[in-house]
Amino acid sequence: MSPVVEFADSHCHLDFDAFDAPHASIVASARANGVQSILVPGVAPAHFQRQLDLVRAHASLRWAAGLHPWWLEAYLKHHGSDLSTVSGCEAGLDALEAAIVEALQHPSCVAVGECGLDKSLAVADEIQRHVMSRQIGIADAHAKPVILHCVGMHHVLQQSLSQHRPAHGGVVHAFSGSPELAEYYWSKGLFLGIGGTITYARARKTRAAVAAMPLEALLLETDAPDMPLCGRQGQPNTPDQLPAIARVVAELHGCSVETVARVTTANYQRLFAV
Ligand SMILES: [Zn+2]
Repeated sequence: MSPVVEFADSHCHLDFDAFDAPHASIVASARANGVQSILVPGVAPAHFQRQLDLVRAHASLRWAAGLHPWWLEAYLKHHGSDLSTVSGCEAGLDALEAAIVEALQHPSCVAVGECGLDKSLAVADEIQRHVMSRQIGIADAHAKPVILHCVGMHHVLQQSLSQHRPAHGGVVHAFSGSPELAEYYWSKGLFLGIGGTITYARARKTRAAVAAMPLEALLLETDAPDMPLCGRQGQPNTPDQLPAIARVVAELHGCSVETVARVTTANYQRLFAV
């Protein structure tokens, strides 16, 4: 008999509508494939109740509360913010802080996020950075880690981290970048969230980064229903695909999948205190 392998999916949007099966069967299929733990990150306060309901239905789930950059503009404007200046954001940020703090009263809510920076948005860099910093401050005040989203704005994230490093650590989710960038984030106490990107042969830089970093710096994630693995493009991604990501990490490290599972699951448990 093969040894019992236990994986943790550190980033899966189970609260999204894009899955083509009921949640219970997605969670059951994940478990059948060894994915025992799943973290459901937050994108906006309107999702928090749904996340809480999911976590209450499945003991192996945890959740996080935050405002994802893609939801930032609609949420803040709805709550009276004017996004033309940093100070104009305050009304919406006060509402956001109240919602996150309320969510953190639930022991199953183990982190703040996801929050961060995305160059595809029309929102000014300084506004995105301010909204992220505010959420890092909430995490610090409540002794929680942060889940960071960063697309195409690593220079801004690095500036922010050089001034304010999250006190209780966190993860740069869906990490994609060079070994130097990976090393930088790890030096700031942030794990690297490794997902389906590395299953594509063309992702040479990111695969080199994963190979160069110790397993102790890595978390596994599917980012389901997004980020389909190589060969599954066009289908909604699911957390039962996590072992395929672990197999690539094992190949890059020249170690067994069991070792990847054991170390990355221990990392998950330590970061999120589960
Ligand atoms: Zn996400």
